[in-house]
Amino acid sequence: MAGLSAAARARELGARPVVLEKGDRAGGSMLLSSCVIWRHRRFEDFRAECPDGDPELQRAVFDRLDDAIAWLEGLGAPVTARETGNPLTLGYRFDPRGLTEALLEAAGDVRFNSEPAGDETPLILATGGFQGNAQLVSEHIHPTAPLRLRANPWSAGEGLRIGLARGAAHSAGLDEFYGRNMPDADFAEPEFVPLAQLYGRFARVYNERGEEFFPSEVSWSENDLVQATARQPGATAWYVVDEPALAQPVRGGTVRDLVDAAPTRVEPSALPFPAPPGAVAAVRVKPGITHTIGGLRIDASARVLDTKGEPIAGLFACGADAGGVATGGYASGLAAALVFGRAAAESALSS
Ligand SMILES: Cc1cc2nc3c(=O)[nH]c(=O)nc-3n(C[C@H](O)[C@H](O)[C@H](O)COP(=O)(O)OP(=O)(O)OC[C@H]3O[C@@H](n4cnc5c(N)ncnc54)[C@H](O)[C@@H]3O)c2cc1C
Repeated sequence: MAGLSAAARARELGARPVVLEKGDRAGGSMLLSSCVIWRHRRFEDFRAECPDGDPELQRAVFDRLDDAIAWLEGLGAPVTARETGNPLTLGYRFDPRGLTEALLEAAGDVRFNSEPAGDETPLILATGGFQGNAQLVSEHIHPTAPLRLRANPWSAGEGLRIGLARGAAHSAGLDEFYGRNMPDADFAEPEFVPLAQLYGRFARVYNERGEEFFPSEVSWSENDLVQATARQPGATAWYVVDEPALAQPVRGGTVRDLVDAAPTRVEPSALPFPAPPGAVAAVRVKPGITHTIGGLRIDASARVLDTKGEPIAGLFACGADAGGVATGGYASGLAAALVFGRAAAESALSS
């Protein structure tokens, strides 16, 4: 999302950018996503839900997203819904394949199976985070067991590595990630969305020892619960549901649909601890990591900053390579990638 947006914007401004794409297909995780590009309706909610994020970066996303979405539509990206279905947020849902094709055409020169050397100038880093690198995930995020990847297979931290080698500072929240609790069983790309167990807020949640480890209210995104699960023994949890929970509406269906389709569903009697009264089913879950939330420190013009807070000449970062936007919570990764991808192109051409 970030790299193609940057290239499309640079081309629109008269440049001839080259996109070096490590993978053999365009679109990265954007192509696999639900493709809802959104912002909070009220800036105060953004601050409250992502309290450790950089207010300047958050303000940039909040102020610039609507124009950026209109720009995507102007490129011919197909919109499938003009609302998010969440009263707290505003945004559009795009068709991910159509969006990828529109951006690909606008980006121009895209070279597959290729990576930057790291010393190019200007260079816009947009490699999508470090979730695909188990060692970096272990080092920075500290899950108690390896996390399964719920993202494109190529984003393995090269943007972070190149940025740090050129003197960049880390953003806050290098130990944070966005993901979903998935059944504790293998899953493939087409199952990233339908198998996500998005009903932790309606369930009683236990770890393997039978402890209810998440005492506070689960957020609507459930990203707080997913990150807490990564820190439980074996990085697993049990979602235990009763009849009223099964009837709750979620993602166009009910909790029952998700529970029935989960390959790790068991009867309450099969739990490794005494089931709570009223339990009718349980699902063993484990986080799938979608993208890292911490990364390189940038300013609102997507310039990469050094440890003194000064911009590093000729170096820009956007998308999940740049941290500090959703720190402490969860916000649209596509929105940040779009806004800072465009900003990176504008800055690179005016530097
Ligand atoms: C199942 C799923 C559902 C999602 N739903 C939503 C949603 O509804 N709304 C939302 O806001 N977000 C959603 N997301 C998250 C969203 O997709 C990401 O936040 C967004 O794609 C991040 O943009 P990016 O440009 O940083 O990374 P990507 O879009 O993943 O692009 C990174 C690109 O860099 C390439 N790359 C990696 N390493 C290198 C290298 N060394 N050299 C060259 N190229 C490299 C990758 O191959 C990839 O093409 C979802 C993600 C998934 C997987």
